Amino acid sequence: MSKFMNEKYCRLEAYTPGEQPQDKKYIKLNTNESPYPPSQGVLDAVNTDAVSLLNLYPDPECKNLRRTIAEQYTVEEKNVFVGNGSDDILNFAFMAFCGKDSPAAFPDISYGFYKVYAELHAIPFTEIPLNGKLEVCVRDYIGINKNIFIANPNAPTGLTLSLDDISRICESNKNNIVVIDEAYVDFGAESSVNLTKKFDNLITVMTYSKSRSMAGARLGFAIANEEIIKDLEKIKYSTNPYSINRLTNLAGIAALKDNSYYVENCKKIIEAREYTKVELQKLGFELTDSKSNFIFTKNSNIDGEMLYKKLKEKGILVRHFSKDRIKDYVRITVGTKEQMDALLAAIKTVI
Ligand SMILES: *Cc1c(COP(=O)(O)O)cnc(C)c1O
Repeated sequence: MSKFMNEKYCRLEAYTPGEQPQDKKYIKLNTNESPYPPSQGVLDAVNTDAVSLLNLYPDPECKNLRRTIAEQYTVEEKNVFVGNGSDDILNFAFMAFCGKDSPAAFPDISYGFYKVYAELHAIPFTEIPLNGKLEVCVRDYIGINKNIFIANPNAPTGLTLSLDDISRICESNKNNIVVIDEAYVDFGAESSVNLTKKFDNLITVMTYSKSRSMAGARLGFAIANEEIIKDLEKIKYSTNPYSINRLTNLAGIAALKDNSYYVENCKKIIEAREYTKVELQKLGFELTDSKSNFIFTKNSNIDGEMLYKKLKEKGILVRHFSKDRIKDYVRITVGTKEQMDALLAAIKTVI
């Protein structure tokens, strides 16, 4: 750290992204990307004509993109906010709605960025422990008078909440916002999007990074009441109005038009997930009933960090978290069936 760093950030612990090694080719099962490329429509949209317009700023309102998203989710354009990845949107939500007198709350085991954003903006926060089965315990969120951030399915457990549960949380925290982070919703949870018509404090956040094969494009969106969207816009226009570049904008529109391609890919990933779960169980692994594109698993014969290391030596990257409560586990992204077979073969030689 330089001597110039603002004092308020000196003790900030930044988020550690999963490894993106450039040195050699791994079977990459560590950051929950899709194993499948973007659809043909996306490849066609990002063409020479599009690139040759990069001398011009993009549309700051992202009108076409927001209209396309609104159509897909049967909401109005004014209910849609787009951001540079859903990380950007989560950050904006912390900035816009949380503060000294409106603290945040999220599960103790969840997406690591929630805590980072809270600390970045000096927002008081409570980490609410998952129960013994690593589930979000809805009771703990009823009427708590805090801004709530929950991933559904949760990361890295893959466990889901029902829409009933989400309704109860929104209903009982009317003076606070409830952010449901649906990064993995397309792999087996129910989306809360329709509840945004009923609850003016609910923000449903989604991303193109996982089920839509566009992690490299950086695009996410939020659906909420019009007033909430305006608040998010205010933060966006106070930081970077052009956060969605021209190419990503076009790719985002094209991807939604090819929806069936992505639905098909999700089906394949779900099949590979269920297959891998069964095979891992046969090998003595314990796992959560993940409804996501990753598996969260442990084996009493090998600790999580060791398994991670051994697999890396064999050219397979998975994710290990050093946090005490989950340090026995690894999180394995579900890839193609072939990748899962390679993983299982490697695991057999390791345990
Ligand atoms: C991957 C992920 C995100 C971030 O997605 P981007 O759109 O790539 O920024 C947000 N929340 C959760 C729970 C995630 O797993």
